[in-house]
Amino acid sequence: MQSCDTLILPRWCVPIEPPGTTLTEHAVAVSEGRILDLLPSADARKKYRPREIVDRPGHVLIPGLVNAHTHAAMTLFRGIADDMPLERWLTDGIWPNEKRWASAEMVRDGTRHAIAEMLRSGVTCFSDQYFFPEVVAMAASELHMRAVVGTPVVDFATAWAENAMECISKGTELVHDRYAEDPLITTCFAPHSTYTVPDQAFLELRVVADQLDARIQIHLHESAREVEDAVRATGKRPLQRLADLGLLNSSLMAVHAVHMSDDEMRQLADAGVCVAHCPRSNLKLASGIANVPALRAAGVIVALGTDGAASNNVLDMLGEMRTAALLAKVVSGNAAALTASDALRMATIDGATALGLADSIGSIEAGKWADLTCISLQAINSQPVYDPLSQLVYTSHPDQVTDVWVAGRHHVDNGHLTEINEMELLQRSSEWQRRFSTKIGN
Ligand SMILES: [Zn+2]
Repeated sequence: MQSCDTLILPRWCVPIEPPGTTLTEHAVAVSEGRILDLLPSADARKKYRPREIVDRPGHVLIPGLVNAHTHAAMTLFRGIADDMPLERWLTDGIWPNEKRWASAEMVRDGTRHAIAEMLRSGVTCFSDQYFFPEVVAMAASELHMRAVVGTPVVDFATAWAENAMECISKGTELVHDRYAEDPLITTCFAPHSTYTVPDQAFLELRVVADQLDARIQIHLHESAREVEDAVRATGKRPLQRLADLGLLNSSLMAVHAVHMSDDEMRQLADAGVCVAHCPRSNLKLASGIANVPALRAAGVIVALGTDGAASNNVLDMLGEMRTAALLAKVVSGNAAALTASDALRMATIDGATALGLADSIGSIEAGKWADLTCISLQAINSQPVYDPLSQLVYTSHPDQVTDVWVAGRHHVDNGHLTEINEMELLQRSSEWQRRFSTKIGN
């Protein structure tokens, strides 16, 4: 017999690769943080002598969910500016609060809160863009959470940097260079949008990102007004401006892509640009509904993200999958436009691809990191089970997530966080809420 660290025995397993596969009575063996084997449970019991067995007889095991776009620290702004369109939400709700409150301490506490919330809902990797990215990276690394840490780039003074050029240099030094060797942290650059970054900074960013082999992600064509204002100010739609600046390539991820013409979808596909779809944030800010079926038909890889908790207001990828699947049917008039299987792929392997991590996460295959999520289908709202994939996408809620592993670390065990003190974390968050309320005068 061969030894391994953990043997997970779920009722069902959806490994994502090969596509369309749902396995019954299969086991996953984990060793040294990586997936060692996926094989029939009966064979696994004969072949492996595990240090720990995790038996989950009414559960489905999937790769950990990949939240391709969020602003983790904004959990502390959850509910602070509701029911506003994007532009007013930013200028009246978010930016004044960030100007007053964003600090290393706030980002640390908000990021830790977000990590706890995401783990509890089955997320094992998140892609972030927020001020003090070095603090985001530190919080994720300390908590053993996988993160793609985006250095925010904006050309106005913030608590973190004076302008776009300083953002780029600080990101290089404090985030990229410092975390280059951390297996859980990947770094990238995250210019906020074309309306907050001038051409000169984009050109600098292109050179720096090429030198560091770092990817870029940007909010793009999120609202109709963003596109109209850009045409008025520059004579170009934002996508065209990025193309003219030489930024359209396979290391770019466009976040939102709600207002794209057919030609622009083809342009994205031809350049290999991936998209992060954030359906509930788009709905809440009344930005519109991205035409995901058309993007996918054009050949664009579409990942899924929650966006920040100030515009969603939960970091729940299960809910995001369900919303994406439902919206795609309405927007296309085709009930088969995005199936449960498609939605789960978007939240796993397509997210991994969009973040440049498909070789190491996003599916249950030997050799990949053991980033895994186990969900109980024994809940009343998920019974009876004809098709576990259907129940997973169309019925599941975060409180059905029983187990989560990040690189083999058992972070959620039978529904409980093993390494994060939830009470302490909630106390910190309510302290911030009291501080915000006092100053704002609510
Ligand atoms: Zn965003």
